[in-house]
Amino acid sequence: MLVYDLKVGYSCNNRCKHCVIEDSKNKLISNNIKMDLTTQECLDQIDKELKKGIKHIVLTGGEVTLRKDFNILIKKCIDNNLGITVQTNGRMLSNDRVIESINNIDDIRFVVALHGANSYTHDNITQIQGSFEETCQGISTMVKQNKLVIIKVVISKINMLELEDIVKLANNLGVKYICFAFPHAQGGARINFNEVIPTYSNIKDILEKVINKSEEMKVNIEFEAVPFCIIPKHMRLVGELKYLRSSSICTQVKEKTFEWDDIRKSIKRKGKNCFKCSLDSVCEGPWSEYIDAFGEDELKPIILSEENKNKILNAICKFGLNKI
Ligand code: SF4
Repeated sequence: MLVYDLKVGYSCNNRCKHCVIEDSKNKLISNNIKMDLTTQECLDQIDKELKKGIKHIVLTGGEVTLRKDFNILIKKCIDNNLGITVQTNGRMLSNDRVIESINNIDDIRFVVALHGANSYTHDNITQIQGSFEETCQGISTMVKQNKLVIIKVVISKINMLELEDIVKLANNLGVKYICFAFPHAQGGARINFNEVIPTYSNIKDILEKVINKSEEMKVNIEFEAVPFCIIPKHMRLVGELKYLRSSSICTQVKEKTFEWDDIRKSIKRKGKNCFKCSLDSVCEGPWSEYIDAFGEDELKPIILSEENKNKILNAICKFGLNKI
Protein backbone atom coordinates (compact mmCIF):
# COMPACT_ATOMS: atom_id res chain seq x y z
CA MET A 1 0.00 0.00 0.00
CA LEU A 2 1.25 3.48 -0.83
CA VAL A 3 0.92 5.92 2.07
CA TYR A 4 1.21 9.67 1.57
CA ASP A 5 2.43 11.92 4.37
CA LEU A 6 1.38 15.54 3.78
CA LYS A 7 2.75 18.28 6.00
CA VAL A 8 0.12 20.99 5.65
CA GLY A 9 2.10 23.67 7.48
CA TYR A 10 4.31 24.26 10.49
CA SER A 11 1.99 26.37 12.68
CA CYS A 12 1.50 24.62 16.01
CA ASN A 13 0.07 25.42 19.42
CA ASN A 14 2.79 23.39 21.21
CA ARG A 15 6.55 24.07 21.29
CA CYS A 16 7.94 20.61 22.04
CA LYS A 17 11.58 20.56 23.07
CA HIS A 18 12.28 17.55 20.82
CA CYS A 19 10.34 18.82 17.76
CA VAL A 20 12.23 18.10 14.52
CA ILE A 21 10.44 20.60 12.23
CA GLU A 22 12.33 23.63 13.59
CA ASP A 23 15.01 23.55 10.85
CA SER A 24 12.57 23.27 7.92
CA LYS A 25 10.33 25.94 9.47
CA ASN A 26 13.22 28.38 10.00
CA LYS A 27 14.41 27.85 6.44
CA LEU A 28 11.01 29.03 5.16
CA ILE A 29 10.88 31.97 7.57
CA SER A 30 14.37 33.17 6.65
CA ASN A 31 13.42 33.00 2.94
CA ASN A 32 10.22 34.95 3.62
CA ILE A 33 8.05 32.01 2.59
CA LYS A 34 4.74 31.29 4.37
CA MET A 35 5.03 28.29 6.70
CA ASP A 36 1.49 27.00 6.03
CA LEU A 37 0.00 25.76 2.76
CA THR A 38 -3.20 27.44 1.61
CA THR A 39 -6.31 25.29 1.25
CA GLN A 40 -5.88 25.23 -2.53
CA GLU A 41 -2.23 24.23 -2.22
CA CYS A 42 -3.21 21.30 0.03
CA LEU A 43 -5.96 20.17 -2.37
CA ASP A 44 -3.69 20.47 -5.41
CA GLN A 45 -0.96 18.53 -3.63
CA ILE A 46 -3.39 15.73 -2.76
CA ASP A 47 -4.62 15.63 -6.39
CA LYS A 48 -1.03 15.37 -7.60
CA GLU A 49 -0.22 12.43 -5.32
CA LEU A 50 -3.53 10.65 -6.04
CA LYS A 51 -2.20 10.11 -9.56
CA LYS A 52 0.59 8.01 -8.03
CA GLY A 53 -1.97 5.62 -6.53
CA ILE A 54 -1.88 6.61 -2.85
CA LYS A 55 -4.37 4.69 -0.71
CA HIS A 56 -3.84 6.27 2.70
CA ILE A 57 -2.97 9.80 3.76
CA VAL A 58 -1.30 11.09 6.90
CA LEU A 59 -2.33 14.68 7.57
CA THR A 60 0.35 16.25 9.67
CA GLY A 61 2.15 19.53 10.34
CA GLY A 62 2.58 21.50 12.54
CA GLU A 63 -0.88 20.99 13.96
CA VAL A 64 -3.45 20.21 11.30
CA THR A 65 -6.51 20.43 13.61
CA LEU A 66 -5.85 24.17 14.12
CA ARG A 67 -6.70 24.82 10.49
CA LYS A 68 -10.05 26.39 9.67
CA ASP A 69 -10.13 24.19 6.52
CA PHE A 70 -9.67 20.92 8.45
CA ASN A 71 -13.15 19.79 7.35
CA ILE A 72 -12.37 20.57 3.70
CA LEU A 73 -9.16 18.53 3.81
CA ILE A 74 -10.93 15.60 5.46
CA LYS A 75 -13.73 15.74 2.88
CA LYS A 76 -11.21 15.77 0.03
CA CYS A 77 -9.62 12.58 1.40
CA ILE A 78 -12.96 10.86 1.91
CA ASP A 79 -14.21 11.83 -1.57
CA ASN A 80 -11.11 10.12 -2.96
CA ASN A 81 -11.49 6.97 -0.83
CA LEU A 82 -8.33 7.57 1.15
CA GLY A 83 -7.86 6.05 4.58
CA ILE A 84 -6.86 8.87 6.93
CA THR A 85 -4.38 9.24 9.77
CA VAL A 86 -4.44 12.56 11.60
CA GLN A 87 -1.18 13.20 13.38
CA THR A 88 -1.94 15.64 16.15
CA ASN A 89 -1.03 16.91 19.59
CA GLY A 90 -4.68 16.20 20.45
CA ARG A 91 -5.42 19.55 22.08
CA MET A 92 -8.20 20.41 19.59
CA LEU A 93 -9.83 16.98 19.45
CA SER A 94 -12.65 18.03 21.79
CA ASN A 95 -13.43 21.05 19.66
CA ASP A 96 -16.90 20.91 18.04
CA ARG A 97 -15.57 21.96 14.63
CA VAL A 98 -13.06 19.08 14.62
CA ILE A 99 -15.57 16.53 15.94
CA GLU A 100 -18.08 17.53 13.29
CA SER A 101 -15.48 17.07 10.53
CA ILE A 102 -14.74 13.44 11.45
CA ASN A 103 -18.01 12.37 13.03
CA ASN A 104 -19.27 9.94 10.41
CA ILE A 105 -15.94 8.68 9.12
CA ASP A 106 -14.88 5.09 9.81
CA ASP A 107 -11.49 4.83 8.10
CA ILE A 108 -9.75 7.43 10.22
CA ARG A 109 -7.31 7.16 13.08
CA PHE A 110 -5.59 9.62 15.34
CA VAL A 111 -1.93 9.45 16.27
CA VAL A 112 -1.81 11.66 19.34
CA ALA A 113 1.43 12.98 20.83
CA LEU A 114 1.50 12.45 24.59
CA HIS A 115 4.90 12.91 26.19
CA GLY A 116 4.35 12.51 29.91
CA ALA A 117 2.23 10.66 32.44
CA ASN A 118 1.35 13.92 34.18
CA SER A 119 0.99 17.62 33.44
CA TYR A 120 4.34 18.46 35.02
CA THR A 121 6.35 16.38 32.51
CA HIS A 122 4.15 16.73 29.43
CA ASP A 123 3.79 20.52 29.79
CA ASN A 124 7.52 20.83 30.46
CA ILE A 125 8.19 19.11 27.10
CA THR A 126 5.48 20.96 25.12
CA GLN A 127 6.36 24.21 26.92
CA ILE A 128 2.63 24.98 27.09
CA GLN A 129 0.89 24.97 30.44
CA GLY A 130 -2.42 23.13 30.33
CA SER A 131 -1.53 21.11 27.22
CA PHE A 132 -1.56 17.78 29.11
CA GLU A 133 -5.15 18.29 30.28
CA GLU A 134 -6.31 19.27 26.79
CA THR A 135 -4.52 16.35 25.12
CA CYS A 136 -5.96 13.79 27.57
CA GLN A 137 -9.40 15.33 27.08
CA GLY A 138 -8.97 15.11 23.31
CA ILE A 139 -7.94 11.45 23.51
CA SER A 140 -10.97 10.64 25.67
CA THR A 141 -13.25 12.43 23.23
CA MET A 142 -12.00 10.37 20.28
CA VAL A 143 -12.17 7.11 22.26
CA LYS A 144 -15.81 7.95 23.10
CA GLN A 145 -16.40 8.60 19.39
CA ASN A 146 -15.12 5.03 18.77
CA LYS A 147 -12.18 6.30 16.76
CA LEU A 148 -8.88 4.42 16.71
CA VAL A 149 -6.34 6.31 18.80
CA ILE A 150 -2.62 5.55 18.86
CA ILE A 151 -0.57 7.41 21.43
CA LYS A 152 2.83 8.56 20.18
CA VAL A 153 5.46 9.15 22.86
CA VAL A 154 8.81 10.67 21.98
CA ILE A 155 11.15 9.13 24.53
CA SER A 156 13.44 11.66 26.20
CA LYS A 157 15.59 12.16 29.25
CA ILE A 158 12.71 14.25 30.58
CA ASN A 159 10.06 11.50 30.47
CA MET A 160 12.05 8.25 30.49
CA LEU A 161 11.31 7.46 34.13
CA GLU A 162 7.57 7.57 33.55
CA LEU A 163 7.23 5.56 30.35
CA GLU A 164 5.68 2.72 32.33
CA ASP A 165 3.17 5.17 33.82
CA ILE A 166 2.28 6.34 30.32
CA VAL A 167 1.21 2.77 29.53
CA LYS A 168 -1.07 2.86 32.61
CA LEU A 169 -2.42 6.27 31.60
CA ALA A 170 -3.11 5.09 28.04
CA ASN A 171 -4.97 2.09 29.39
CA ASN A 172 -7.02 4.34 31.71
CA LEU A 173 -7.89 6.56 28.76
CA GLY A 174 -9.06 3.50 26.81
CA VAL A 175 -6.14 3.48 24.33
CA LYS A 176 -4.65 0.12 23.36
CA TYR A 177 -1.85 1.22 21.02
CA ILE A 178 1.31 3.16 21.85
CA CYS A 179 4.28 3.98 19.65
CA PHE A 180 7.40 4.93 21.63
CA ALA A 181 9.80 6.81 19.33
CA PHE A 182 13.46 7.35 20.10
CA PRO A 183 14.20 11.07 19.52
CA HIS A 184 15.91 12.22 16.35
CA ALA A 185 18.51 14.92 17.09
CA GLN A 186 17.30 17.43 14.52
CA GLY A 187 15.60 20.81 15.00
CA GLY A 188 14.62 21.32 18.64
CA ALA A 189 16.07 17.97 19.69
CA ARG A 190 19.48 19.04 18.35
CA ILE A 191 19.28 22.41 20.12
CA ASN A 192 18.17 20.74 23.38
CA PHE A 193 20.33 17.66 22.86
CA ASN A 194 21.66 17.34 26.41
CA GLU A 195 18.25 17.79 27.97
CA VAL A 196 16.42 15.51 25.54
CA ILE A 197 18.48 12.63 24.09
CA PRO A 198 19.15 9.63 26.34
CA THR A 199 21.44 6.73 25.40
CA TYR A 200 20.07 3.28 24.67
CA SER A 201 21.94 2.08 27.77
CA ASN A 202 20.03 4.69 29.85
CA ILE A 203 16.67 3.28 28.78
CA LYS A 204 17.29 -0.44 28.22
CA ASP A 205 15.99 -1.56 31.64
CA ILE A 206 13.15 0.95 31.44
CA LEU A 207 12.02 -0.49 28.10
CA GLU A 208 11.93 -3.94 29.66
CA LYS A 209 9.56 -2.63 32.38
CA VAL A 210 7.44 -0.86 29.75
CA ILE A 211 7.12 -4.13 27.80
CA ASN A 212 6.11 -6.05 30.93
CA LYS A 213 3.53 -3.41 31.87
CA SER A 214 2.09 -3.32 28.35
CA GLU A 215 1.76 -7.12 28.30
CA GLU A 216 0.06 -7.02 31.70
CA MET A 217 -2.39 -4.33 30.53
CA LYS A 218 -2.81 -5.81 27.04
CA VAL A 219 -1.69 -2.55 25.43
CA ASN A 220 0.02 -3.00 22.05
CA ILE A 221 3.32 -1.16 21.79
CA GLU A 222 6.14 -0.64 19.33
CA PHE A 223 9.47 1.19 19.42
CA GLU A 224 10.75 3.38 16.59
CA ALA A 225 14.50 3.94 16.01
CA VAL A 226 15.35 1.32 18.62
CA PRO A 227 17.34 -1.43 16.86
CA PHE A 228 16.79 -5.15 17.43
CA CYS A 229 20.01 -5.52 19.46
CA ILE A 230 18.71 -3.07 22.10
CA ILE A 231 15.57 -5.19 22.68
CA PRO A 232 16.82 -8.63 21.53
CA LYS A 233 14.14 -10.55 23.45
CA HIS A 234 11.34 -8.47 21.90
CA MET A 235 12.35 -8.10 18.26
CA ARG A 236 8.73 -8.10 17.07
CA LEU A 237 8.32 -4.70 18.78
CA VAL A 238 10.74 -2.94 16.40
CA GLY A 239 8.46 -0.34 14.82
CA GLU A 240 10.25 -0.23 11.46
CA LEU A 241 8.79 -3.68 10.70
CA LYS A 242 5.56 -1.89 9.77
CA TYR A 243 7.34 -0.44 6.74
CA LEU A 244 7.56 -3.97 5.31
CA ARG A 245 3.87 -3.81 4.43
CA SER A 246 3.73 -0.39 2.79
CA SER A 247 5.77 2.32 1.08
CA SER A 248 5.56 5.97 2.01
CA ILE A 249 6.02 9.20 0.15
CA CYS A 250 6.18 12.53 1.92
CA THR A 251 5.90 16.22 1.14
CA GLN A 252 7.29 18.78 3.56
CA VAL A 253 5.86 22.31 3.33
CA LYS A 254 6.79 23.91 -0.03
CA GLU A 255 9.23 21.12 -0.85
CA LYS A 256 9.34 18.33 -3.43
CA THR A 257 7.74 14.97 -2.63
CA PHE A 258 10.27 12.31 -1.64
CA GLU A 259 10.34 8.58 -0.90
CA TRP A 260 10.34 8.42 2.89
CA ASP A 261 11.68 4.84 2.92
CA ASP A 262 14.85 5.89 1.07
CA ILE A 263 15.37 9.12 2.99
CA ARG A 264 14.76 7.45 6.36
CA LYS A 265 17.37 4.80 5.69
CA SER A 266 19.84 7.43 4.48
CA ILE A 267 19.62 9.41 7.72
CA LYS A 268 20.16 6.33 9.90
CA ARG A 269 23.48 4.58 10.38
CA LYS A 270 24.68 1.20 11.54
CA GLY A 271 27.94 0.14 13.17
CA LYS A 272 30.97 -1.38 11.49
CA ASN A 273 30.12 -4.83 12.95
CA CYS A 274 26.47 -4.78 11.86
CA PHE A 275 27.30 -6.82 8.75
CA LYS A 276 27.90 -9.77 11.12
CA CYS A 277 24.40 -9.42 12.60
CA SER A 278 21.70 -11.90 11.57
CA LEU A 279 19.15 -9.05 11.53
CA ASP A 280 21.25 -6.80 9.31
CA SER A 281 18.93 -7.18 6.31
CA VAL A 282 15.86 -5.91 8.18
CA CYS A 283 17.53 -3.45 10.57
CA GLU A 284 17.80 0.29 9.85
CA GLY A 285 20.03 1.11 12.84
CA PRO A 286 19.87 4.30 14.94
CA TRP A 287 19.61 7.89 13.69
CA SER A 288 23.04 9.00 12.37
CA GLU A 289 23.30 11.79 14.93
CA TYR A 290 23.08 9.19 17.68
CA ILE A 291 26.19 7.39 16.41
CA ASP A 292 27.96 10.75 15.99
CA ALA A 293 27.27 11.60 19.63
CA PHE A 294 27.53 8.27 21.42
CA GLY A 295 29.42 5.94 19.06
CA GLU A 296 28.37 2.41 18.13
CA ASP A 297 29.57 0.30 21.07
CA GLU A 298 25.99 -0.41 22.20
CA LEU A 299 25.17 -2.09 18.88
CA LYS A 300 26.02 -5.74 19.50
CA PRO A 301 25.44 -8.04 16.51
CA ILE A 302 22.88 -10.77 17.05
CA ILE A 303 24.44 -14.03 15.89
CA LEU A 304 22.03 -16.86 15.02
CA SER A 305 22.39 -20.17 13.22
CA GLU A 306 21.16 -20.05 9.62
CA GLU A 307 18.11 -22.10 10.60
CA ASN A 308 17.20 -19.84 13.54
CA LYS A 309 17.89 -16.73 11.52
CA ASN A 310 15.40 -17.79 8.84
CA LYS A 311 12.85 -18.77 11.46
CA ILE A 312 13.18 -15.43 13.24
CA LEU A 313 13.14 -13.37 10.05
CA ASN A 314 9.96 -15.13 8.94
CA ALA A 315 8.38 -14.66 12.36
CA ILE A 316 9.25 -10.98 12.82
CA CYS A 317 8.12 -10.15 9.30
CA LYS A 318 4.81 -11.84 10.08
CA PHE A 319 4.53 -9.90 13.36
CA GLY A 320 5.48 -6.77 11.45
CA LEU A 321 2.62 -7.30 9.06
CA ASN A 322 0.17 -7.48 11.94
CA LYS A 323 1.41 -4.34 13.64
CA ILE A 324 -0.34 -1.03 14.22
S1 SF4 B 1 22.24 -4.68 12.44
FE1 SF4 B 1 23.46 -3.53 13.97
S2 SF4 B 1 22.05 -2.04 14.86
FE2 SF4 B 1 20.85 -3.61 13.83
S3 SF4 B 1 20.35 -5.10 15.41
FE3 SF4 B 1 22.18 -5.81 14.39
S4 SF4 B 1 23.87 -4.96 15.61
FE4 SF4 B 1 22.05 -3.84 16.18
